[in-house]
Amino acid sequence: MIPPRADTEVAPETLRVLICDDLSPEAARVFAEYGIKPEICTGLSEDELVAKVAGVHALIVRSATKITRRVIAAADSLAVVGRAGVGVDNVDCVAATEHGVVVMNTPTGNTTTTAELAIALMVSLARHIPRADRETRAGIWKKKALTGTQLTGKQLGVIGLGRIGRVVAARGVGLGMQVVAHDPYLAGAETSPVEGTTLASLDDLLATSDFVTLHVPILDSTRNLISAERIAAMKPGARLINAARGGLVDEAAVAAALESGHLAGAAFDVLAEEPPPAGHPLVGRDDVILTPHIGASSNEAQLNVAIDIAHQVARLLLEGRADNAVNAPAVSASDLAFLAPYLNLAERMGRYLAQRLDGPVRKLEATWEGELSERDTRPLALALLSGVLGHGTDRGVNFVNAPAIAEERGLRLLEGREADAGAFQNLIKVRASTQGGGDSHLVAGTVFGRRPRFVRIDDLHVDLAPEGHMLVTDHDDVPGVVGRLGTLLGQSGLNIRRIELGKPSRSGGDPGACAQGFLQIDAQPSEAFLASVRDLDFIREARIVHLGPSIEPAGSAS
Ligand code: NAD
Repeated sequence: MIPPRADTEVAPETLRVLICDDLSPEAARVFAEYGIKPEICTGLSEDELVAKVAGVHALIVRSATKITRRVIAAADSLAVVGRAGVGVDNVDCVAATEHGVVVMNTPTGNTTTTAELAIALMVSLARHIPRADRETRAGIWKKKALTGTQLTGKQLGVIGLGRIGRVVAARGVGLGMQVVAHDPYLAGAETSPVEGTTLASLDDLLATSDFVTLHVPILDSTRNLISAERIAAMKPGARLINAARGGLVDEAAVAAALESGHLAGAAFDVLAEEPPPAGHPLVGRDDVILTPHIGASSNEAQLNVAIDIAHQVARLLLEGRADNAVNAPAVSASDLAFLAPYLNLAERMGRYLAQRLDGPVRKLEATWEGELSERDTRPLALALLSGVLGHGTDRGVNFVNAPAIAEERGLRLLEGREADAGAFQNLIKVRASTQGGGDSHLVAGTVFGRRPRFVRIDDLHVDLAPEGHMLVTDHDDVPGVVGRLGTLLGQSGLNIRRIELGKPSRSGGDPGACAQGFLQIDAQPSEAFLASVRDLDFIREARIVHLGPSIEPAGSAS
């Protein structure tokens, strides 16, 4: 389960690699160059995969096969999961990291192909090509309605100047367009990294561009980026292209803007719901081009990602070299093995704090105590950030994108080390604060027998497994609290697993000071239940914190 080291001789013919999704046969040829003969077994269910993975060293997937915690736990020899493509939403990266399994992707293989699709959609929009084709085949020969617009001299606004956005911008320059770009990472930069293009604010870009193309990831901050208000602020007659991710654009608002004539056309390779449901407002419009998420679908891109992943996985297995690892920074195998049980703890601490604070977390102060202070704690920092940032989103915050998302959200992580962990062998202590320290909470945790526990919350010493649902209360320190909360829980059919109640030690016996309660509940409580708790006269504040499913101790399945 630990990735091999460069200093370990590995006989390639002993390595077992499973290719789980349809992949170009070139991947097998590349593996053969390294003396590895992969097994191809596509279309397996989770149960079938669980039954098959013992003794397997590498799993290769595209997006169909899900590499779940169960699969990873059953794969006792697994060193690497290779994703031929970019998104790793189908791989449980936290579970992989806990088990010392490297997850790697091929971030660049699709770039040119996807950029070319965006350009193709732009040209098609400008010249009504899909509609012209449809009408010609249907025997309609009406040229006037198909009068298009020339690209040369028009302004192309590129939102997101990352890998794909940069290629699109450069192609736009090549087509003789004025290209402006917006990307928050370049805020403050004087010049654009793409020659012949200029940087602009989002508002200016939208107000002045004839074509607007999106190349940003889907984050909380980019969901509905092109909202009804922003569409209304676009240049009249503009055309919009989304070949990035569904959910970036208010699709109903685009349909309305097309209907009113404010926008002249729109092209989508990606939609919030794929395929689009019946009655989707964009389907059936002549001024809209829709393609079925084919941005990365070219022979070259499929070939590139297959070749890239085969090289990367073979090098990892034979040389211990982890290119494009998305979960673990290159820490030593011994640090990774030591840290494994603490990764879940750190992630759950992040989840707890994100839900405990009133407002977004802006500052995290983490202290790694005990032997942890001597280890390479970068994976712990990433697990903590992933927990804070991933809460409440349905997209994959992973160890690679967490620092970037943290920066984008203005979240700072300050780290400290203490050799002495007090009563514990190792302790992680994290204080989280909102902007300007308006709200601030602390949680400390450790691992007992490979099981994570919260041992302190704010000033209260506790012993809580960070899993399931937790009712957190601030309440008057009066008799009857447990009884009345227990009655309400019982009436709602909710079973209490554990209760921790107390008065923070810093209250110093002040009778008016607030007490705190942490009640672990088996099932998810309803909003109505929470409202009835808040109605209790002694409750000052109550919230439900969702910590996630029960944690299998790392390494228990191997
Ligand atoms: P990338 O990470 O290299 O670039 C994304 C850029 O977006 C970054 O520079 C980031 O700073 C910027 N960004 C983030 N928030 C922004 C905001 N609010 N406004 C403007 N810019 C913002 O990613 P990439 O490889 O260029 O991919 C871009 C998108 O294309 C991703 O969403 C990816 O999933 C998608 N994609 C789609 C297909 C397809 O099949 N249609 C194929 C590949 C990639």
